[in-house]
Amino acid sequence: MVIDVRNLSIEYKIGNDYLEAVHDISFSLTKKESLGFVGESGCGKSTLAYALLNLLEENGRISNGEIIINEKDIVSATNKEIRDIRWKEIAMIFQNAMTALNPVEKIGVQITNALLLHEKISRKQAIERAKDIFNKVGISPSRLMEYPHEFSGGMKQRAVIALALICYPNILLADEPTTALDVVAQRQVLELLVQLKEEFNLTLIMISHDISVVAEACEKVAVMYGGEIMELGNTEDVFKSSNHPYTKSLINSFPSLYQEISELEQIPGYPPSLEDLPKGCPFATRCAYAQEVCFSEKPAMRRVNNDKLVKCHFAEELDFNKRGDSY
Ligand code: SF4
Repeated sequence: MVIDVRNLSIEYKIGNDYLEAVHDISFSLTKKESLGFVGESGCGKSTLAYALLNLLEENGRISNGEIIINEKDIVSATNKEIRDIRWKEIAMIFQNAMTALNPVEKIGVQITNALLLHEKISRKQAIERAKDIFNKVGISPSRLMEYPHEFSGGMKQRAVIALALICYPNILLADEPTTALDVVAQRQVLELLVQLKEEFNLTLIMISHDISVVAEACEKVAVMYGGEIMELGNTEDVFKSSNHPYTKSLINSFPSLYQEISELEQIPGYPPSLEDLPKGCPFATRCAYAQEVCFSEKPAMRRVNNDKLVKCHFAEELDFNKRGDSY
């Protein structure tokens, strides 16, 4: 197992209270596997991503669970141990390439500095590695000594990918890697990620609000809502035949390339507030299938068809796929 996350819960201190943003998340991945986390804004995806690198904000803390990366638990690791794991074992493509790069430092310097900080090599060797990684992400090494503002949006995103890969990590964490790019650049960046995953034997964890991005790049998908995983399984199984009403609504709110959909589905209401998380199912107030038990009892994670994990009291009883396959 390259990464094994067990019963992870994360909370933030707001005023005198601790509010839970991520609840009881478990998943594991082996080498070269890919998993995408999808869900609406505020569902806990990015909090989870930052926790995996032990980079939570000062008011955030892991309240329960373990994150085992290559057999080391990073929750109980010392700062020095975490520094050794970051970048070399798990690296992150941060959400916004515009702000992920230092605007007043040449990109090549930023990349070589990251390498020199984590590996015992000479500056000359670091420059050669930076040239090599620039070639791999499709940018001419001659542009290494340029500033971020001299790059287009798509090139900046490639440079951020190069920065994440410079120490050859085992796990690549991509937080909204295509957001803020035009559709052509989005396609190119996605193809590049899939290609680099193969070339570097990467385990890929992707965070996105866009289910089509995850469908394109990941073999597995985890649908998050209210800080919890609602459905987890093989991407094709989840998108073709979901066992959770939220997943199905999310899919039906995106236009399909393969079906005529006259009207996109709108999910009524808003996600629950961290200050007032419901006692029962977090989706109950917006769910068309909710019954009394949904408001009083939290559904447990259960295993259904094709090894999918689903948190819904009626995962096996009701048909949430009445609109057919829109994957
Ligand atoms: Fe809807 Fe109830 Fe299932 Fe929650 S447990 S998703 S409210 S049917």
